[in-house]
Amino acid sequence: MTYLADEKRYEKMEYPRCGRSGLCLPKVSLGFWHNFGDNCSRDNMKKLMFTAFDLGITHFDLANNYGPAYGAAEANAGRILKEDFAAYRDELIISTKAGYDMWPGPYGDHGSRKYLLASLDQSLKRLGLDYVDIFYHHRMDPDTPLEETMGALAQAVISGKALYVGLSNYDGPTMERAAKILEELHCPFVINQNKYSILVRNIEQNGLKEASVKNGKGIIAFSPLAQGMLTDHYLNGIPADSRAAKDARYLKPEFITPEKVQALRALNAIAEERGETLARMALKWVMRDGAVTSVLVGASRPEQLIENCRAFEGSPLGEEELVRIDAATAG
Ligand code: NDP
Repeated sequence: MTYLADEKRYEKMEYPRCGRSGLCLPKVSLGFWHNFGDNCSRDNMKKLMFTAFDLGITHFDLANNYGPAYGAAEANAGRILKEDFAAYRDELIISTKAGYDMWPGPYGDHGSRKYLLASLDQSLKRLGLDYVDIFYHHRMDPDTPLEETMGALAQAVISGKALYVGLSNYDGPTMERAAKILEELHCPFVINQNKYSILVRNIEQNGLKEASVKNGKGIIAFSPLAQGMLTDHYLNGIPADSRAAKDARYLKPEFITPEKVQALRALNAIAEERGETLARMALKWVMRDGAVTSVLVGASRPEQLIENCRAFEGSPLGEEELVRIDAATAG
């Protein structure tokens, strides 16, 4: 039976604007980096996408090489979009990216015009779409002139294959140079996608956060739960069904050191005092000062999405709580 979306899906989610643009994103977005590869159950993928959309999560984030195998997440999402979401295409923001290794040889990686435009064509085929809403350059490439990479992003928009463009993993100064070029090209650059959580705060040090606010660009924070560490998952060991146990490509069990667990327990105690879970408090922290438009979470189970969408209930974090959070992670 074809999926029918919950009629009440827009009642609870909020949709802040991406910087000074017309594009609104849900405060919680769903990423397809894990749990959408060929090693995952199609039934669970459908459940995740249906639950997300029913919760008002209108933004699905992909990349050319999400898998395994590379391309598989786009192909799997594409099949479900076709089967179940055809009626909702105009209610969805679908993003993809190119910039990391995708196919062999000199044209399947980094930031050349050749790679970006060929990759976007491939992504559209796998996704079964005429256009994506946001096309990102996935990482900085110091060996390709910025003008060339930005020119390719602008071309994606001119050709109608992308509506907006974004930059991912850029630092503040490089993003500002890119923004200037894109402005000259009249290209709608609206968003930066960077890693940001209580545990990983690079964008506060590399100028990206400040420059985004100053230049009116949105920020979408990826791995806001530090791949699941900022939840109750790892407080007492590594559960068999967790990412660190099942799919340790990027979250290796050795990252979960006794010192880290001690910090997570201290954070969990603050969350418990507030009457919320660590996951909810961690997402609230990312959005605490209005600079971030959306938290880009992953989920292995629909219940996690339900929980994460409750993050903005309850009181905001107070000054004293913020100081205690810093102290818990200072070690
Ligand atoms: P998170 O930090 O949100 O981690 C998600 C994982 O945490 C889930 O898969 C699940 O893992 C666990 N989890 C989520 N919610 C809960 C909960 N409420 N309670 C307990 N555990 C929970 O994000 P990701 O690291 O998955 O990244 C999110 C997205 O960001 C990606 O899908 C991708 O779209 C994007 N991204 C972009 C990058 C870039 O370079 N631009 C790089 C990396 C990610 P478990 O399996 O253990 O249940």
